[in-house]
Amino acid sequence: MRIVMIGSGYVGLVSGVCFADFGHSVVCVDSDRSKIDALNAGRMPIYEPGLDDLVTKNAKAGRLTFTTDLPSSVADADAVFIAVGTPSRRGDGHADLSHVFAASREIALACKGFTVVVTKSTVPVGTGDEVERIIREANPSADVAVASNPEFLREGAAISDFKRPDRVVIGTIDERARNVMREIYRPLSLNVSPLHFTERRTAELIKYAANAFLAMKITFINEIADLCEKVGANVQEVARGIGSDNRIGSKFLHAGPGYGGSCFPKDTLALVKTAQDYDSPIRLIETTVAVNDVRKRAMARKIIAAMGGDVRGKTVAVLGLTFKPNTDDMREAPSLSIIAALQDAGAIIRAYDPVGAEHAKGLLDQVTFAEDPYEAANEASAIAIITEWDEFRALDFQRLKSVMAEPLLIDLRNIYPQGEIDRHGFAYVGVGRATFA
Ligand code: NAD
Repeated sequence: MRIVMIGSGYVGLVSGVCFADFGHSVVCVDSDRSKIDALNAGRMPIYEPGLDDLVTKNAKAGRLTFTTDLPSSVADADAVFIAVGTPSRRGDGHADLSHVFAASREIALACKGFTVVVTKSTVPVGTGDEVERIIREANPSADVAVASNPEFLREGAAISDFKRPDRVVIGTIDERARNVMREIYRPLSLNVSPLHFTERRTAELIKYAANAFLAMKITFINEIADLCEKVGANVQEVARGIGSDNRIGSKFLHAGPGYGGSCFPKDTLALVKTAQDYDSPIRLIETTVAVNDVRKRAMARKIIAAMGGDVRGKTVAVLGLTFKPNTDDMREAPSLSIIAALQDAGAIIRAYDPVGAEHAKGLLDQVTFAEDPYEAANEASAIAIITEWDEFRALDFQRLKSVMAEPLLIDLRNIYPQGEIDRHGFAYVGVGRATFA
């Protein structure tokens, strides 16, 4: 199949290279020339484990190319995927669809022969109808079918998620389009990944319902964690106790500083807006959004309390800035709000992140960036682990203690077992694990 991917970011690039690896011929398009130049020069514009090698392999094999020239690539395509960003619209929280609609117009004018136009971006219910209307208006003779194929990959594990998905959702009732999509995803049948064919609006809603449910699950365990601290219980054991029930499941039950990232915050908000527009409010998700919003600043208060209630002029070593490990993505990272709140209280911040520092530098003021955890901890009165990168799981506490002003570890991801740090002479505060237990 000849596939064009419009938008070569976290989703477009990973999807494009994986399709190429299945054996399809793929052109990745992006309007950002610097991304395309980087890709053509063999440099990855994003950090994603394994991406570099897979791109090199498929580009060498001639199955994967990169361009800013949308019209000439679309002309020959069997399927054109729209994988552009759909951030929150400033002011009201609705998804900003301007990039999706701009791409749709360009596709309409460029396509020749039967073409399946596929929204892979996360888009609100009814967007496919609007994409179709835009295409028909711009080019009434275009022979297109518009399908929805939401993406469920996770940054940091994106390639294996794409190649071994739990399911692939395809929303279209057009038989020709279904056949093209079947052919595109046929290599996945070896991995026994089910294709869920459904109607377009249903597919669009599945993506929001999935993300909202996961965000709600995280928020649920975070509130249970708060209760654990008050009543003298351990949230990790509660999570294990409930998660081993198959009806609940053990994933997404890790208490922490609140969800962030490029998807959950904007998608929960967009679902809330859609539901309100249709006069069918989803109060569970409205509450999820509100609870998560206040949690990040609450985590800063937790750090301040652990440091004796006053951080003015004291240094906090922040370990981990990205919204999760194994990505350089800083969008809506909890670290941003936590650091801002600590700075408001007068703290001095020294930070270290294995790959996120470059992006973080553009988003954080007055932060000293260190080359490793030990440099970050220099003269610090506390270490706060915000992102659970693997390299923070076996820190040398004697070395840390020797450079710190006070030995205190605030572990917002519970990566250390309670009791393990005390023997190094550190005071330790986790999440949802009562210290007096
Ligand atoms: P991103 O910002 O990393 O990438 C989007 C790319 O689209 C950018 O490189 C941008 O330059 C390009 N672009 C914008 N308008 C364009 C146009 N008209 N023509 C060509 N290129 C254009 O975004 P992302 O994280 O890859 O997310 C893309 C979509 O996928 C969003 O809707 C998101 O919600 C969804 N999604 C993201 C993830 C994730 O983990 N990042 C997972 C599932 C779904």
